[in-house]
Amino acid sequence: MTDQQLFDVAIIGGSYAGLSAAMTLGRARRNVIIIDSGKPCNRQTPHSHNLITHDGKTPAEISALAREQVLAYPTVHMRAGLVTHVNGSDGAFTVTTDNGHALQAKKLIFTTGIRDIMPEIPGFAESWGISAIHCPYCHGYEYSDARTGVLMNGEMASEYLKMIRNWTADLTLYTNGPATFEEAAREKMLAFGAEIVEQPIASLNHESGYLETLRLADGTTREITALYHRPAFVQHCLIPEELGCELNAQGFIKVDEAQKTTVAGIYAAGDNSGAFRGLTGAMAAGTTAGARLNHELINEEY
Ligand SMILES: Cc1cc2nc3c(=O)[nH]c(=O)nc-3n(C[C@H](O)[C@H](O)[C@H](O)COP(=O)(O)OP(=O)(O)OC[C@H]3O[C@@H](n4cnc5c(N)ncnc54)[C@H](O)[C@@H]3O)c2cc1C
Repeated sequence: MTDQQLFDVAIIGGSYAGLSAAMTLGRARRNVIIIDSGKPCNRQTPHSHNLITHDGKTPAEISALAREQVLAYPTVHMRAGLVTHVNGSDGAFTVTTDNGHALQAKKLIFTTGIRDIMPEIPGFAESWGISAIHCPYCHGYEYSDARTGVLMNGEMASEYLKMIRNWTADLTLYTNGPATFEEAAREKMLAFGAEIVEQPIASLNHESGYLETLRLADGTTREITALYHRPAFVQHCLIPEELGCELNAQGFIKVDEAQKTTVAGIYAAGDNSGAFRGLTGAMAAGTTAGARLNHELINEEY
């Protein structure tokens, strides 16, 4: 492999979505280069769940096995590095990395994920993915019937709390400041057995990411085992926007049913384009992108 080679596809982001796209393209005998900066969003979580054949394994184990299987296809290559710049257009893109490579590819797939913005509460970031969790389908079972908080405010709070009640009845809504939902929503949540705490959270006390207590601004502390939160996010990689790919109102890259973005020759898949936020969702979107992009190449060659 040399920097002069023209690849059929450059895949930017070599995690679950990117490796799935690469396997599909490798099996379609396409020349593929994957560039990955090694920062998947779930890297802090001790065990991944809700993934048949790998339920309970560490994210590192799952991605190491995926890399081994994908790189067994002789036309698939991978480079470590951060893509810093892309120029060109459909049929002739140049992908530049922070470690000095300039790779040529006919088509691109961005599988770059999103970057969660941690709330500014001491202890939260350290507990993220361990006991401060985003998704009950990924981690809720492990916290069944546990003393649980939901860190959320606004109109979505009642809906989210209602869902988490499926896993535990020991629920407190922490609005982290004055509640901004309607009185009717408050009454509904209280009738549902939840407590509502509007005091700002001062800090989370944890042991290696496992929550023990939560301290409020007035100095009182409460026991807590799990805390659900849906953090705000930004795109992990801003290059798709620089290339003209449109984002939707939620901040995801706009894609059609084939995972094509609004720019010719560029596809996106996984968390960056709003797949169901789970490993299976990212893998399914990556596989679709790989197959549909291969089909585009076949049509161009026919
Ligand atoms: C804390 C946490 C725990 C989770 N637990 C589970 C679970 O138990 N079960 C489950 O099903 N789902 C879980 N998820 C969801 C799941 O991890 C994501 O849906 C999945 O990782 C998305 O895959 P992706 O490939 O789209 O993005 P990511 O896995 O985030 O990977 C994106 C990759 O792109 C790379 N990248 C970004 N920009 C560039 C660039 N410019 N150049 C090169 N590389 C770049 C990054 O380094 C990264 O390796 C969890 C998520 C979080 C946040």
